[in-house]
Amino acid sequence: MTLTTNLGFPRIGARRELKQALEAHWGGDTAATQLLDTARELRARHWRLQREAGIDLPPSNDFSLYDQVLDTAFLFDAIPQRYRAVVDAAPLAGYFAMARGLQRDGIDLRALEMTKWFDTNYHYLVPELEAGQQFALRGDKPVAQYLEAKALGIETRPVLIGPVTLLWLSKTVDGSDRFALLERLLPVYALLLEKLHAAGAQWVQVDEPALVLDLPPALREAYRTAYAALAAGPRAKLLLTPYFGGLGDNLELAASLPVDGLHLDLVRAPEELEAVLERLPADRVLSLGLVDGRNVWRTRLDNALLLARYARNRVGGDRLWLAPSCSLLHVPVDLDGEKALDADLKSWLSFARQKLGEIRLLADALEGRDGAETALEEARQRIESRKTSPRVHRPEVAARLAGLAADAGRRQSPYPARRQAQAAALGLPLYPTTTIGSFPQTHEVREARAKFKSGKLAEADYEAFLEAETEKCVRFQEQVGIDVLVHGEFERNDMVEYFGEQLEGFAFTKLGWVQSYGSRCVKPPIIFGDVVRPAPMTVRWSKYAQSLTDRPMKGMLTGPVTVLQWSFVRDDQPRADTCRQIALALRDEVTDLEAAGIKVIQIDEPALREGLPLRRAQWDAYLAWAVHGFRLTASGVADATQVHTHMCYSEFNDIIEAVAAMDADVISIETSRSRMELLDAFVRFRYPNEIGPGVYDIHSPRIPTVAEMVGLLEKARAVLAPEQIWVNPDCGLKTRGWAEVRTALERMVEAARILRSGQ
Ligand code: GLN
Ligand code: ZN
Repeated sequence: MTLTTNLGFPRIGARRELKQALEAHWGGDTAATQLLDTARELRARHWRLQREAGIDLPPSNDFSLYDQVLDTAFLFDAIPQRYRAVVDAAPLAGYFAMARGLQRDGIDLRALEMTKWFDTNYHYLVPELEAGQQFALRGDKPVAQYLEAKALGIETRPVLIGPVTLLWLSKTVDGSDRFALLERLLPVYALLLEKLHAAGAQWVQVDEPALVLDLPPALREAYRTAYAALAAGPRAKLLLTPYFGGLGDNLELAASLPVDGLHLDLVRAPEELEAVLERLPADRVLSLGLVDGRNVWRTRLDNALLLARYARNRVGGDRLWLAPSCSLLHVPVDLDGEKALDADLKSWLSFARQKLGEIRLLADALEGRDGAETALEEARQRIESRKTSPRVHRPEVAARLAGLAADAGRRQSPYPARRQAQAAALGLPLYPTTTIGSFPQTHEVREARAKFKSGKLAEADYEAFLEAETEKCVRFQEQVGIDVLVHGEFERNDMVEYFGEQLEGFAFTKLGWVQSYGSRCVKPPIIFGDVVRPAPMTVRWSKYAQSLTDRPMKGMLTGPVTVLQWSFVRDDQPRADTCRQIALALRDEVTDLEAAGIKVIQIDEPALREGLPLRRAQWDAYLAWAVHGFRLTASGVADATQVHTHMCYSEFNDIIEAVAAMDADVISIETSRSRMELLDAFVRFRYPNEIGPGVYDIHSPRIPTVAEMVGLLEKARAVLAPEQIWVNPDCGLKTRGWAEVRTALERMVEAARILRSGQ
């Protein structure tokens, strides 16, 4: 009989119960026991939900109070020295100190670094290791949670992050080779496997997403060493779980490791099934990842069933498991909570709970159970309705894209000519000053928006409030002496949602939360249809702000790649096509802004870099369409209109050519933390256009001194031409307070003045 399974369930709770419990605990309102009770209730609820959805073998130890990588580092006692005292005194407080830092009673601990989990928007904490690192088992979380489920009568499969992936995700603080620590790590894994076995676990899931990456030969060897060692001891059966892509050149390796089962992400790499079937030894279980754990659409069950049937004919039903492609951590919990979503759209979507139902249905269909055919037929109709819905397919969008001139992505003249036209139009001083867009989103601003949204504040009053805020912001910048002003973005909740809400083809959920890190969740828009801009989106605010001042007012847009990257996207057309559609809608906004008298327009692309595919071989193709999307957005304007872009969070060495190809007149980047190191890529490339290297770290409440900012600018001036340099903060100011912003910007303007006077 074919078994249904799951690789991981969202832990935050359908109503973000874990978030509330965490924040109440951190705020000192509740004791640890209350938090732990909530956590236990959520685990129990989620195991039951999975069983009720028809999952034979749900996972355990997929739960975490903050992050699964931190849990693993903690479990293996990879705890940097600075946290030891706190951890020893109070393990839970120590755990949260590693996650969030701790400032209390003279203690000042910074948190572990945080970075993106593969190509998702989930962030994990990077374990800090060092040469000679000792590992030991600290606590027994995986065993305890396995037993917790068992006590509820539910057999689960504990999930561990595999040893090679764990080291891949870690960093050493002393520059030593982290993979040299594998040998020290393996005995602790073996001990843990032994304990899980002793507790009665029949299977253990070992997550090795690093197997879908480009691996150097030494790491492949590390895989062989690691799994030979893990296979040797007393243990449960091991399910090796790569995900987020195909195995590619690691396929032979993965199929040959001495484990008891192998999982495949057949959503991202269906073409690999055949090769794996050919190579997988005859005693192994094959877990088919058929339901997309990274997106919110209903599965095309007929296609999935084709793969499942094919595999069953080759390996037999008893060796076959059906699963999602990866953990469901990356999708919202339950579509049933969406009461306001329209029926059509709802019938096309599938969140975690619905996805488990799809896996059940696939298994039932495979076994020829009663009712499966009817359910399949219903699913087919939903797919069909989406395929033909006029809300999804707007012929005018396709026609416009098809009719686009070949040079639609090219500005009228090359940069040097544009530079002259812009200099004449704008008359800016050397080292012009500007900001990245948002100004403090104060309590009053958020409150007014909430009131407006809930109908407690009339539209006219809300608009009047926003106008007043905008005017204050403009006057403030004039007083401080900024050269290119912004309107402050008070009308925006979020840089993607604000645009999505005004574009057709986007939908928003009420409860579609996905964990981003710790207690932080995001609610990504769902792009379901061809993108149309029914009316200008930002012109009203930019125009109003410009009317208040003689200084140039910068129009402010989120770029197409970033909109795409931070949304759930269509799975019925290539990402590149969706990107071009968004680009066209934004292009119209750009030209409307220009027509309304806006001479400087910024198109933010902070997410361009994070969209890079996991495999290098796919980078060029991605960068080509991403850059084209930006250019399509930006190129409809005259030479004299100055186009800015902003890319924070980015590292540029690998993408500098693409960034240059975007051909923005000005790019602002985040450089103050790295002390201008991020400029290196631009310098080496001889980046020709203008650059605003950030001189104010807006992630910190700390206000830099004039001398510090001058120092940073001098570093920039040593490697760039003075005419290339802009003076600005690292990113938007929305998370900061007005008082600190005033001081910081006054100092920034002063720093620019000092540079101009050549002092
Ligand atoms: N214009 C946006 C702001 O200032 C940019 C935000 C971002 O880059 N993340 O808030
Ligand atoms: Zn930014």
